[in-house]
Amino acid sequence: MAFPSSSTAFARSTCELPDITRDWLHQDALKTRYRTAFDGDGNGVHPNTTSFTMHEEAHAKAGLVIRDLHHLGANYARSEGPWSYQWTGLAGAKVCKPGYHRYGAAIDFTRFDWGAGNYVDTAVHGKDKRLYLRRRYLAVIATCRKHFGIVLHCNNDPDGSHWNHIHVDRGRQAVAANWDYQTDTTIIQWAARDLAGVKDMPIDGDFGPKTKRGFELLRERFGTGGVDPTASGDAFRVWLTLIGRHGVADQAAGAFPADAALQTEAAAAGD
Ligand SMILES: [Zn+2]
Repeated sequence: MAFPSSSTAFARSTCELPDITRDWLHQDALKTRYRTAFDGDGNGVHPNTTSFTMHEEAHAKAGLVIRDLHHLGANYARSEGPWSYQWTGLAGAKVCKPGYHRYGAAIDFTRFDWGAGNYVDTAVHGKDKRLYLRRRYLAVIATCRKHFGIVLHCNNDPDGSHWNHIHVDRGRQAVAANWDYQTDTTIIQWAARDLAGVKDMPIDGDFGPKTKRGFELLRERFGTGGVDPTASGDAFRVWLTLIGRHGVADQAAGAFPADAALQTEAAAAGD
């Protein structure tokens, strides 16, 4: 569905629209947990299974994110795979404050966990010194963007609060890439830097000449010359799925081909 415009969403703080309350995403066994604190290393602490309230559509789309992350762990694990997805950490969903949280159309993620020490903690891994952890965080961002049009994270942080969580919302549907959106441009910049080796690529959301060269390099390495991510949501999902595969597997762009099956999968994931 189309949620109200962002000027309407941010004009008030009252909660609106029907919601559902669940303690799982995608499947009943894949529980959600509330982040209550941080440990000495800065990782979120998530002691218990917790129910969250949100719009039914946001729950369904978040379920697809978890489905895709399970699939990536099962098929593209970095080591000692396959990984089987276990649980998801959240800081909140429906909250009566300005923005898409008040419709239950926004979710704040804090952790994605495949078990056996394989996880993304959104407070530490996005800017970790270790490339494989930044790649894994990027894979999560790209997977979120397959199903949510707005994804805020440690490198796309307009209000300074997203260093410790990933915000996704359906205020924008999972449409074609548009380089005027920082959500979309930062993903390309991050992939150019950490998957294609453009070490001095700024991740600032500004699609200038340097970003364009990074985009073209990625396109060459991925073999996605015939797939224009600005043409459709499905076309962008081909790119996002490739970024997810390379990111979880900790491989440079080009390790996995852009095959026909990828396009079929992207279309099946449609918005
Ligand atoms: Zn949020």
